[in-house]
Amino acid sequence: MDYKALADFLFPDVKDTPDDIEARFPERDLPDGACVTRIGPSPTGFVHLGNLYNAIIGERIAHQSGGVFYLRIEDTDNKREVEGAVETVINAMDYFGVHFDEGATAEGDNGSYGPYRQRQRKDIYHVFAKLLTERGLAYPCFMTAEEIETIREQQTAKKENPGVYGSYAKCRDMSLDEIKTEIAAGKEWVLRFRGEETGETITVDDAIRGRLEMPRNNMDFVLLKSDGIPTYHFAHVIDDHFMRSTHVIRGEEWISSLPMHVELFNTLGWKMPVYCHTATLMKMDGASKRKLSKRKDPELALSYYQQEGISKDAIWEFLLTLLNSNYEEWRIADPESDYHEFPYSLDKMSVSGALVDLDKLRDISKNVICRMSSQQVFDGWLEWCSEYDAEQAALIRKYPERTLAALGVGRGGNKPRRDIETWKQACTFMSFYYDETFSVTDEMPEECDADTVKEFFTRYLASYDHNDDPTAWFDKVKAITEDMGFAVKPKDYKKSPDSYKGSIVHITNMLRIALTGHANAPDIWEVSHVLGEDITRDRLSRYA
Ligand code: GLU
Repeated sequence: MDYKALADFLFPDVKDTPDDIEARFPERDLPDGACVTRIGPSPTGFVHLGNLYNAIIGERIAHQSGGVFYLRIEDTDNKREVEGAVETVINAMDYFGVHFDEGATAEGDNGSYGPYRQRQRKDIYHVFAKLLTERGLAYPCFMTAEEIETIREQQTAKKENPGVYGSYAKCRDMSLDEIKTEIAAGKEWVLRFRGEETGETITVDDAIRGRLEMPRNNMDFVLLKSDGIPTYHFAHVIDDHFMRSTHVIRGEEWISSLPMHVELFNTLGWKMPVYCHTATLMKMDGASKRKLSKRKDPELALSYYQQEGISKDAIWEFLLTLLNSNYEEWRIADPESDYHEFPYSLDKMSVSGALVDLDKLRDISKNVICRMSSQQVFDGWLEWCSEYDAEQAALIRKYPERTLAALGVGRGGNKPRRDIETWKQACTFMSFYYDETFSVTDEMPEECDADTVKEFFTRYLASYDHNDDPTAWFDKVKAITEDMGFAVKPKDYKKSPDSYKGSIVHITNMLRIALTGHANAPDIWEVSHVLGEDITRDRLSRYA
């Protein structure tokens, strides 16, 4: 077979040589040890948590080492492509604070290693498809889906490995004339790699999993599909070589394809990147762990976290906790530092499934928000509301000073309040600061009957002076408490409950409920001063 003639026949439009492509994408000029990483999401419209999980690893190891982190859009499967999906990926990554140095952007490309959308790289793939054909290592295959299914059935019956290889690869040895005849007849073809049965083993040192040993590839796997677009396998090898990736961070579901990738890197004589196969995201389902499922688990979608108003910092801290076993320890020892200062390392990664625990995420989110300044909370919350809750955004904009002051209640100090869990939950928690959304949900304590309620609020309002400092204010509350037969010290009431109607706890709960709608609320004096005298008197006088 004249492979050169076959290559010229199959790829008449290829003009560039492999050397031209090498020259177009030179080695990057980076300091020693700098890592070049990427994410390669497919534009299906669904951005999953795993995309962010892998993005954070890539971003960290690139930026910690003075390297480059880029975005490549893996759109070789056009059946799955959704309009606007590239923007969706970019916006989601941006929302979660993942910024690319280079790659696909909504407007086009940024960087000199592009195009960064695989469908625009067809000419590059074809140079190497042609090269492999010329070397007799790739050939056109005309097998139909039915024929492939038939051999799969035979293989299953004989307990052999499924796939197109060896004697099952029926188009391997077609002559040039036969090929020309088939193509002239309009038969569809794919380009297959010519695998070799050697019985050898390959080893790959995975940066997360250590040494992987697998049988060497013997499959005639597909390089180009019938529309001339490459498979993931071919595109991955070409792109990560020419975009000069040093590390390939991807999900563990790709481990089984590694022999094909190793075969291609070796055949083309290129240095392999360092592979980093990350653990699958799991969740607890009853007592057992299972994979997160797109169908059953809304939390697999990144949009879930946006809609729930989980801040980017909370997600980062949560994912870093999952990613590096020593992150939590570092955070406890150093509660103030920015998480970007954490020395992230690939060898501290778990290889068993990463457990996504939403309760833990909410807890981390509370801690993150309670460490923020009032202004940071204000900005983060308003930004979220502007997109997800227009009514709340309007209230914040109408009462900016009150909102900022409200966010300061219980903030700072050694034991800051942990009232706000997510931006969405902040809308519920903060609702009592605005008459527009205020409502009383809790019942008055049972120790306080209707007469007690009325008497208390009448006396409270009569003696209320908005200018009292917290001590003067509390002295007045205590005086009324005592006067009305309630214990000023809760422990006195506990000791002899029959001597009192209740304790100061019931009195202050009554006040909290009248003022905020809830017994569990921040400091009454502070809340009154955020609301101002008019609103305070107005809410309390409803009970007097
Ligand atoms: N497009 C692949 C995916 O979405 C990317 C895998 C890779 O990063 O190489 O799984």
